[in-house]
Amino acid sequence: MKFDFLSTKKASAYEAIDSHQWYQWTWQLQHRLTQKEDFEKVFNLSSDEIKGFEQLKSIFKVSTTPYYASIAAQIEESNSVAKKNQSNFMNPLKRIMLPHVLEVEAGEQQMLDPLAEETHSHGQNLIHRYSDRVLFLVTDTCSVYCRFCTRKRFTGQDEGFINSNEYQKALSYIRSHPGIREVIFSGGDPLTLSNSLLDRVLSDIRSIEHIEIIRIGSRMPVVCPMRIDEDLCKIMRRYAPVYMMSHFSHPKELTLEARQALTLLVDHGIPVLNQMVLLNGVNNNAAIIQALNRRLLYLRVKPYYMFQCDPSEGTDHLRTTVESSEEIMREMWGHLSGLAMPTLSLDIPSGGGKTTLVPNFMVSASKGVREFVGWDSRKGIYRDPKVEMLKPSDVGDYEHEWEELKNAKNNLSIDHQMGLPIEAVK
Ligand code: SF4
Repeated sequence: MKFDFLSTKKASAYEAIDSHQWYQWTWQLQHRLTQKEDFEKVFNLSSDEIKGFEQLKSIFKVSTTPYYASIAAQIEESNSVAKKNQSNFMNPLKRIMLPHVLEVEAGEQQMLDPLAEETHSHGQNLIHRYSDRVLFLVTDTCSVYCRFCTRKRFTGQDEGFINSNEYQKALSYIRSHPGIREVIFSGGDPLTLSNSLLDRVLSDIRSIEHIEIIRIGSRMPVVCPMRIDEDLCKIMRRYAPVYMMSHFSHPKELTLEARQALTLLVDHGIPVLNQMVLLNGVNNNAAIIQALNRRLLYLRVKPYYMFQCDPSEGTDHLRTTVESSEEIMREMWGHLSGLAMPTLSLDIPSGGGKTTLVPNFMVSASKGVREFVGWDSRKGIYRDPKVEMLKPSDVGDYEHEWEELKNAKNNLSIDHQMGLPIEAVK
């Protein structure tokens, strides 16, 4: 075994729970910790955390699975600083799951909808921001409400499956836009749905001829890996290609249970890519990111995005500066292979879409001549060839497809049921 994965131990509050129950994902969801008193059974809460609970705005719920709380408790038990009850110990997982007094303070930039998703919403649950893909929010329920969540305006409000009217409206919109080739199910967490419901949703989407790719974004492999079992993998496999976007943010989340869940997914032919958020005092260090990404890669999971934390309400204490995030990328450059390197991405607030932050390795540029400095300080010059740039002769075979993709968002078909474009019948 190349890496040690954390062998989890139930927190003492759960010692009486037998393994059969513990490893049922439904038991984990039914026994979520939601109140200060629940957490006090597992942790010594700091005064800032207690104040966080007391002053918590009603906008965003608190919830954690017993499994995830147990990992956080285990981190505390094994850390000598924490053991001495020293207030300077920052438990990375507690920072993700517990409200903090700083969450209720006015910060530098506090947005309820930082990605301006509501501007691009078609109904409450379908967001069409990019030309060829939509975000479909089939539930607002998550098993853990991450304090850095971007979608606080939506997540955890009603805690239920999308109502059938909205569901049908969303399906109708996707059907009537043949330019949509990808459907992304995202938070709330789609894997909080039962297998039969998930099967129905995937089947409905797969029956739309122009849908090529289905993506499922979920924190369940992290916070409730027992959710990933043979039955679920078979369902996902049935509607292939279905990609799983996991959200591991810290190497200590990669437990033996998480390893088993990821292995099951990949063994069933489901590609898994990981998206993480850079978080102050949680993972904002190259040593931590490399540890996470090398372990993920070893488990056949490609580290995909490393997101700059969105300026969602109550997240200033968790956000990193752009400069420090870029510095982490620069530090890792050259030491990690391209396979293990994530793409550092920032969502431009107010709906500008994703942009990529890449360290600048160019020293100078003049016409056709550029000088670069590499990760280990070696310099080199790249000279452009003095030749004409040619158009590949078979480009015509693909131009139509490309134009269609670029215009996908405006490309409407007739709604078969109503005989009218969907916008017209709203
Ligand atoms: S799982 Fe995703 S959607 Fe749910 S609270 Fe966490 S970040 Fe938000």
